[in-house]
Amino acid sequence: MSDKVAVFDTTLRDGEQAAGTRLGSRDKLTLARQLARLKVDIIEAGYPASSPDDFAAVERISQEIEGPTVCALSRAVASDIEACGRALAHAKRPRIHTGIGTSDIHMLGKFRDEKYGTTLAEKKVKILAMAVEAVKLAKSFVEDVQFYAEDAGRSDPSYLFEVLAAVIEAGATVVNIPDTTGYTVPEQYGALIRSIREKVPNIARATISVHCHNDLGLAVSNALAGIHNGARQIEGTINGVGERAGNAALEEVVMALRTRRDYYKVHTGVDAREFSRTSRMVSDMLGMLVAPNKAVVGANAFSHSSGIHVDGFLKDRETYEIMRPEDVGFAESRVVLTARTGRAGLRDRLKKLGYELSKEELDLTYQRFLVVADKKQEVFDEDLMAILHDELHPVPAACQIEYLQIYSGTSSIPTATVRLRINEEVKQGAAIGNGPVDAVYRAISAVTGSSANLVRYDIRAVTSGTEAMGEVTVQLEQNGRRVLGRGASTDVIEASAKAYVDGLNRLASLG
Ligand code: MN
Repeated sequence: MSDKVAVFDTTLRDGEQAAGTRLGSRDKLTLARQLARLKVDIIEAGYPASSPDDFAAVERISQEIEGPTVCALSRAVASDIEACGRALAHAKRPRIHTGIGTSDIHMLGKFRDEKYGTTLAEKKVKILAMAVEAVKLAKSFVEDVQFYAEDAGRSDPSYLFEVLAAVIEAGATVVNIPDTTGYTVPEQYGALIRSIREKVPNIARATISVHCHNDLGLAVSNALAGIHNGARQIEGTINGVGERAGNAALEEVVMALRTRRDYYKVHTGVDAREFSRTSRMVSDMLGMLVAPNKAVVGANAFSHSSGIHVDGFLKDRETYEIMRPEDVGFAESRVVLTARTGRAGLRDRLKKLGYELSKEELDLTYQRFLVVADKKQEVFDEDLMAILHDELHPVPAACQIEYLQIYSGTSSIPTATVRLRINEEVKQGAAIGNGPVDAVYRAISAVTGSSANLVRYDIRAVTSGTEAMGEVTVQLEQNGRRVLGRGASTDVIEASAKAYVDGLNRLASLG
């Protein structure tokens, strides 16, 4: 058996299914370029049948991305598979990922309609036939077809083996064994993978893939158990983002395989030095912060503070460090950006961060960069990414802040006055609140007449010191739709107002 494990990134598909997140096709393309730099083997770019925007994202990624295989998801439904075929038409290495639920719970629940059979036994026959048909249809578009047995973790093993043998016979090159609900535990999931290798007669013709969810915090452990038992493809997302508690964090799986190569005896083709910036990009685009104690990419992952640890570490770093921060892209030497850096220096840094801008976008970013550079000694990468998201978000700014004034203090009632330009019309208003941010939000709500609900509010200093850029992320909800709004400024109240207005603009752009 090969000792190479293929890395399948599904940040753009499963990762984007995280509650309240949505990536536009432009962000998806930027992230896909970064994933190519990270040298993942497969990028799952989206689910083309789900929306025109997702179709466009898969199509553009197919046209532009050269290294990795580009994969698109479908149900075992002809129109889904045909959409994948069209979206992947220009990909150098296309793959269609199709599949169907194989657990009793899925068959009796999702396929309860009588057209799938009345008894479970009848449904099993029908679903197996649908799986084979789906693979055959996908095969008419691309050579590389991956099949997923949804909820494999809770499926009857003997039925699962039967389905896998049939889809491999129909031409599936990869069989994905998802623990869709994050229900399994490592020994059990590992044993399932081993039993597939033992019981599916034609399994040598396909690669086994592991796709684990983190509902019990076991996604990475389960994925590793799968690899230990013969799986040779790992699916996951950067930072472990995804549905509910998320997917297996790719950076953790890859670094575990690498750090413990003595045990697993396998390797991946990933360039781990790209993990740090990929993590930051994903966090930024999805508006999901990374916990400081997060393995591999957390801000404290390589910090030592207790006296005993620091003493030992300084004598020999291996006493308390099993990975080096530079291996995952932390603490690289870098050029200091200041107001005198110039446009070329800025363009170069943005490119290193994974952002390729048009001339107009660069001009816009440079102007904003100069404003920040004037307020600060040094402009950090984190500042730049905050600026990019503030300035270059693709949503039309129907509503803009023209004027903002806050009155606040220990013995006064926080009061905000705002003047907004809404579609060329200028409106103003004022409100009091429980604090300055609350007052601003009430004032903006009153002026816009918006009924949006503020679901979440996060603020962070994206750089250190009192002169840091503050970045605010809000989640707004209206008529069952959720959007993220972001704003950055050295003034946290201004950043809060911008984030709120950005969110309102995004809601408006949904129509
Ligand atoms: Mn999943």
